[in-house]
Amino acid sequence: MKATFWGVRGSIPVSGKKYVKYGGSTLCTEVRLDSGELLILDAGTGIRPLGVKLMKENRVLHMHLLLSHGHMDHVQGFPFFAPAYIHKNDITIYGCPQVPGRTVADFLSRQMGDVYFPVEFDGLPARREYVNHCAICGNSDSIKIGKARIFSIGNNHPGGSISYKIVEKKKSFIYMTDNELGSAAPDATSMETFAEFCKHADILVHDAQYTPREYATRTKGWGHSTYEQCARLAAMAQVKTLVLFHHDPEHDDRAVDAMLDKTRILLKKLGSRAHCVSAREGMSLTL
Ligand SMILES: [Zn+2]
Ligand SMILES: [Zn+2]
Repeated sequence: MKATFWGVRGSIPVSGKKYVKYGGSTLCTEVRLDSGELLILDAGTGIRPLGVKLMKENRVLHMHLLLSHGHMDHVQGFPFFAPAYIHKNDITIYGCPQVPGRTVADFLSRQMGDVYFPVEFDGLPARREYVNHCAICGNSDSIKIGKARIFSIGNNHPGGSISYKIVEKKKSFIYMTDNELGSAAPDATSMETFAEFCKHADILVHDAQYTPREYATRTKGWGHSTYEQCARLAAMAQVKTLVLFHHDPEHDDRAVDAMLDKTRILLKKLGSRAHCVSAREGMSLTL
């Protein structure tokens, strides 16, 4: 299994020379299974250059798009995803609709047509199928894509969000973003429950949007975590590699570097031997 990051910025895209190291596109990660299937995690603006690359492969594409939730930074690139405009291609879209009576298609369709975009979602040529899959809405069974099993868990996030654990050949890759590990909400999922889900993962990609100071003074309850909380989760779950993700638009390259350094020190203090990196555009990790 190989994961490649196409967009790692949370909330809104950024550009400029202060952001060239980690990149400014919003969330999109490509996962290629060893059995050949193409998985795409979220459809932020990073999905546009991924689409350009896929078009150059010049073949019929069978794609699996796994959405964490419908917030704009996770769906806003989809109208510009060129493979969706080719009728021979097909896309299976997975996610939790969160609201009874809705489908996961709503995450993508509501930003298209009407006064928002010149093309209607229903008018896209590529064939689409939907899998409303989620721990929250009662369909908590794992799903199978190729030879991989995909598990999910609900996150602590306003409006809901879900994480995915992709397991193939005993290797596990966890995509856990838009998750507030320290949430004080009465129905919040605990750090221990997330640690159980992440136990011994080879790679854990986690939302590390804030510094502990930002969190303590301003951003509690906004649905995101600090790098310190990520380090505690990684240590508790004994994961092998922790990837800091969903970088704040206010954090330039220097700020992200500083957060990474502090996370590595914390992991050592906590007795974890986890390798730690910050996600950046173009970075690939092979499991
Ligand atoms: Zn987000
Ligand atoms: Zn969100």
